[in-house]
Amino acid sequence: MLEKYRYNVARCARCGICRAKYSEKVHYVCPVREHTGGFEHYFSRGRVAVAAGILEGAIDYSPELVDVLYTCLGCKSCVEQCGSVDMRNGKSLVDTAKIVREMREDAIALGLEPKIMQELHATVSKTKNTFGGNLEEKNKLAKKFELPEKGDTIFFSGCYGVYRDRKEAEATIKILKATGAAPAYLADKEWCCGVMEYWGGNTKVARDMALHNLEALTTAGVKTLVTACSGCLDTIKDIYPEIIEDKLPFKVIHISEYLADLVEKGELKFTKEINKTVTYHDPCHLGRHARIFDAPRKVIESIPGITLKEMERNREASGCCGSGIGAVRALEPDLALAITNDRIKEAVATGAEVLTSACPMCVEQLTLAGRASKAKLEYINLPALVAEAMGL
Ligand code: SF4
Ligand code: SF4
Repeated sequence: MLEKYRYNVARCARCGICRAKYSEKVHYVCPVREHTGGFEHYFSRGRVAVAAGILEGAIDYSPELVDVLYTCLGCKSCVEQCGSVDMRNGKSLVDTAKIVREMREDAIALGLEPKIMQELHATVSKTKNTFGGNLEEKNKLAKKFELPEKGDTIFFSGCYGVYRDRKEAEATIKILKATGAAPAYLADKEWCCGVMEYWGGNTKVARDMALHNLEALTTAGVKTLVTACSGCLDTIKDIYPEIIEDKLPFKVIHISEYLADLVEKGELKFTKEINKTVTYHDPCHLGRHARIFDAPRKVIESIPGITLKEMERNREASGCCGSGIGAVRALEPDLALAITNDRIKEAVATGAEVLTSACPMCVEQLTLAGRASKAKLEYINLPALVAEAMGL
């Protein structure tokens, strides 16, 4: 409920730092603001002003307002550069991504959820995955790699890893096995992590997913959960504790952290050189949300032959891929594509031959836009790149 964020909404000083445009050579910008003519309600200051208006009873939720709410990517670029900071810890007091999420939750409670989001959430509720696929596919993956259901280290594939980019999931499993992690996998007992439901405002479905997964993981004896999806990582690590109002009894890491640790110990062995220039896209949920910026870079730079070239906006200042946890891509495909094209242009400007990222959702969105615009780039998810260099 938005009410929970009344204090934070009131902390917006209306300073307008979040109003910056990329053409002004300011890196921390709202990607949506770049393509919506600068109207206030499309970026942080205006979104927070809308929230204040709702809390004061000056305005009501309406279908038109809900349309605007679902243009926010939840990318946290605005949060990163917000001028209203808690002096005790340096963190922004105005988390617009969370404030928008709460407004979406309230709009859903009023029956104003957009039809596409209703359908998406109904699909997840019914099939336990984002794409309406059969959970049997997860059993097939477990069988192919002879993965046990129980163990200390559990691989969490997520929906993309099974129903979209199987190469990413398979590469992750191969890496974990080759480096002695002996991964287990919940198979059909693994449900969607709930990332789209949580950020889409459907907290009930997100909670159902979280409670089920937590019980299944605990029963399976998890001590360390490894995932290659930035959405799954941030949801399980940061959102599940919020949902259950307690700490998780296990560790959650991204495959890039697992690999960076091996690089540091000198234990990651490659068999092949990849003589290419690579640029790396920071997924919002791995970077600004989960604060993992160094690990993927350390891994890429450790691959023999690779030269890493940074895009103009990188790390905390990275541009969003445009997907917006799938909601913006589903509801506003032209807006999403315009944002993705900005990122593709930045990648091309580095002169890199390969664009990699550490999230299957980002890689899919960047690949779609990049191929459509005939950009001269190869697209590969980080685990697949590492597996190739390991000869797996
Ligand atoms: S930068 Fe933060 S405090 Fe300033 S207007 Fe934007 S949301 Fe408000
Ligand atoms: S979270 Fe991203 S898309 Fe949403 S207002 Fe902030 S910068 Fe814009």
